[in-house]
Amino acid sequence: MPEPLFEELKSLIDFSPADEANLRLLAEPLDARIDHIAEQLYNKLQAHPAARSAIRESGASEARVRSTIADWLVGLLEGPYDQEYYQRRVRVGLVHARMRLPQHFMVAAMHLVRRALVDAVWDLPLHPDDKLAKVRSVHKIVDIETAVIMENFREGYAERVRQTERETVKERLRESEHLANIGQLAAALAHEIKNPLAGISGAIQVIAGDLSPDDSRRDVVDEILAQIDRMDATVRDLLVYARPKPPEREVHGVGAVVQRALTLLREEPAFDGIEMHREGLDCDVEALIDPSQFQQVITNVLLNAAQACNQHGEITVRLSRDNSVARVEVADTGGGMTRAEAERAFEPFFTTKARGTGLGLPICKRIMDAHDGRIRLQSREGKGTKVVIELPVSL
Ligand code: ADP
Ligand code: MG
Repeated sequence: MPEPLFEELKSLIDFSPADEANLRLLAEPLDARIDHIAEQLYNKLQAHPAARSAIRESGASEARVRSTIADWLVGLLEGPYDQEYYQRRVRVGLVHARMRLPQHFMVAAMHLVRRALVDAVWDLPLHPDDKLAKVRSVHKIVDIETAVIMENFREGYAERVRQTERETVKERLRESEHLANIGQLAAALAHEIKNPLAGISGAIQVIAGDLSPDDSRRDVVDEILAQIDRMDATVRDLLVYARPKPPEREVHGVGAVVQRALTLLREEPAFDGIEMHREGLDCDVEALIDPSQFQQVITNVLLNAAQACNQHGEITVRLSRDNSVARVEVADTGGGMTRAEAERAFEPFFTTKARGTGLGLPICKRIMDAHDGRIRLQSREGKGTKVVIELPVSL
């Protein structure tokens, strides 16, 4: 609340010099009651989880907190209600915002203060008219105080929200700078590695053409070609990750894409010895997807599942529809992940595999984000992993 509003508030509530005098005259006779009211307020704070933990974290002793509350109550009666007073009260609102006390709690706490002060005035040996006037002054100052606390509470709260937003923006910026760097690196790599690699691969194949079919050096050549393929895959993953293409989305059957991925992976050696289960793949659910990108997601996840199974075990692929969500689940009975691995699985370049790029899941996440969908995983070390992929269905 800007300071001029404090003056305006006082005049709106009709807070006069007579009220100031009334309150100041109450300070001494109520002095004996202040500690008791502070205790009630302290107990109320202790009963609220946010307040309790904020007090605990501040490290202040109970006696200290209670005397702070008592000082604040005395200040309420003593004034003077000038700018300096206002500034002090402003800080109280900010403290409450920092404690994350909800607004309704603040209103309830001020209600307690009001009732306790009014009761205390009621017990004083005063002429009824005088009593009534003093009770009115108490009402006025409690209302003013509540308004000031609320306003600054809101300010403090808004400040906290702005702070969080600033941090998020900074983080995004860092992330996109990071991506821009990888993007440049990937482009350089593509140029420096991909093209020579294609050349080497071609040359080797020419040489291999001259070898007789039973030449023992064929194995060596095949190994070289396999390694070249792997390097090529790494560079390709890096390019996909660093230079994502916006999806070209169309209404498409989800099950059909999953089927296609499974069919294409049938020959993949990683799947040897693994029992595959398919559930609900003919389920009639359509979504707005880029079929080739979505297929890449399913393929990456299936490959991870197979690699985790290490040539034995089971993989279950299930498609289901849950209201407006199409859900593909890929569960494997492989080695699972530790908690730390699961937390880092979507980090670019995080891999536990000798030949991994650590880009499979980050690419999946990028694609699912671009599809307004999501991908998450549940894993238990030694038991297996379930990856859940969700998409909004098209109605
Ligand atoms: P990469 O497969 O190249 O290692 P990914 O991004 O696909 O990269 O996966 C990152 C890491 O997450 C893997 O190295 C592995 O540790 C873990 N991971 C992913 N899927 C599974 C799974 N189904 N079971 C166990 N671990 C997995
Ligand atoms: Mg992978």
